[in-house]
Amino acid sequence: LEPKEEFKHKTLAMDVMRPQRADPPLSVLMQSGMSVDQVEAVIADTSYSGFPVVVSQETQRLVGFVLRRDLVISIDNARRIQEGIVGASQVLFTEHTPAQPCDGPPSLRLRSIMDLSPLAITDHTPMDITVDIFRKLGLRQCLVTQNGRLLGIITKKDILKHMAQMTNRDPESILFN
Ligand code: ADP
Repeated sequence: LEPKEEFKHKTLAMDVMRPQRADPPLSVLMQSGMSVDQVEAVIADTSYSGFPVVVSQETQRLVGFVLRRDLVISIDNARRIQEGIVGASQVLFTEHTPAQPCDGPPSLRLRSIMDLSPLAITDHTPMDITVDIFRKLGLRQCLVTQNGRLLGIITKKDILKHMAQMTNRDPESILFN
């Protein structure tokens, strides 16, 4: 990502993050309570590279981030080789397995594929600082929170597109590699 003169007019993370007003809501996964079928539906209905994992819809408290490809591979493998994993199995990103009704199918534990400390910035973080963070840490995406509540996501491409819009430039010409 190029130098930050382009962000002189104090653009904030909230101006660049998705979703913006007209966008569909953020696609998140719950740390517990979703079935394999429900997670597969989220994967099928979207094309995002990854999904934030939250405690619950109500709190939107961030617990991690999981890449789409890791989810797909793990669910595929589990369905093929892990005893008892079916569409109705509960997907768990939690540390401990909650007590389970003994008549239900076994749960699919996926905590090991989750990034437990995805980088998160507040919605008021100036974009010049955000760009610095992306560059220095080599990020592909980062999450945006406000008072511990997950609000949105910013990808490297979102930043490049935003910069191109502000300077009327082709995003490709800003990509440095
Ligand atoms: P890229 O920006 O590199 O194409 P993605 O395909 O992951 O990466 O994201 C496409 C767009 O959707 C971006 O604008 C991004 O901010 C947004 N986005 C990414 N992940 C999610 C998600 N889980 N829910 C909602 N929007 C997302």
